[in-house]
Amino acid sequence: MSAHLLEQVTGYCTRLRLPRVAAQLPAVLAQAERGETSLLEALATLLGTEATARETIRLKTALSMSHLPAVKVLEDFDFAFAPGIDRARLQALASLDFVRRKENVLFLGPPGVGKTHLAIALAVAACRGGLQTYFTSVAELVTSLLAAQQRGQLAARLQFYTKHALLILDEVGYLPLAPGGPNLLFQLVSARYERGSLILTSNKPFRDWGQVFGDEVIASALLDRLLHHAVVINIRGASYRLRDQGAALAPEPPPVPAKRRGRPPRGAPSEGR
Ligand code: ADP
Ligand code: MG
Repeated sequence: MSAHLLEQVTGYCTRLRLPRVAAQLPAVLAQAERGETSLLEALATLLGTEATARETIRLKTALSMSHLPAVKVLEDFDFAFAPGIDRARLQALASLDFVRRKENVLFLGPPGVGKTHLAIALAVAACRGGLQTYFTSVAELVTSLLAAQQRGQLAARLQFYTKHALLILDEVGYLPLAPGGPNLLFQLVSARYERGSLILTSNKPFRDWGQVFGDEVIASALLDRLLHHAVVINIRGASYRLRDQGAALAPEPPPVPAKRRGRPPRGAPSEGR
């Protein structure tokens, strides 16, 4: 092995920012020179290590930027426990075509049925897929927009919430919104309309949203935009949190098939069901 050439290649690795290739180079080359591996195998080891490490770092950064409250995945979701949804449908969503088509996904259902779990699982899939993703509760979003408005920086804050390919708004309807909140939420949903995907979770059926927002007009204008290109998934059944407390488990109502609302943009492939 020529020391001079090795030094030169190590220098290239530094310039090309391939530290793991540089670190492994002497050992992998020695193996190849002894005839234990082919040149192609040596290259595969060197580049494979670098690529995997970079991918891991990229995913870690994306996950930390996405502000997720926890990491949840579809594989850990017990579909038998959640009538009204099926695995194939969620797996189709996890392929993220809905994000590319700028459609919305709404998870509805009582507390503890896995709405946030599924929203997070799709967010994790989006991070893996390299899509800019951000998770926030609606209450937190409204607080942040109101504070920005007071500082005269509403436009910039709205811009922050519109720049992500996928925005998750968790817990619509759990807490009453501060005065001015529904209006700001409407501005955000309008700004993202047909420009970026939203995943929204709510424990309240749509007919109660007027009451949730204290304003029927805003609620219906908001729902109009949200539902135009949207997949609505109703989850029935009992709280997973209380699954071991038999007394708390109410008998399950019959599953209701999830509905798709609106038409996908022309030419868009239809999501498998
Ligand atoms: P929701 O948002 O509907 O109130 P969560 O998604 O927060 O409910 O679920 C509550 C807890 O139960 C979470 O820890 C979640 O991971 C878990 N969970 C809920 N449903 C399921 C399920 N079907 N399979 C596995 N875990 C579940
Ligand atoms: Mg939740």
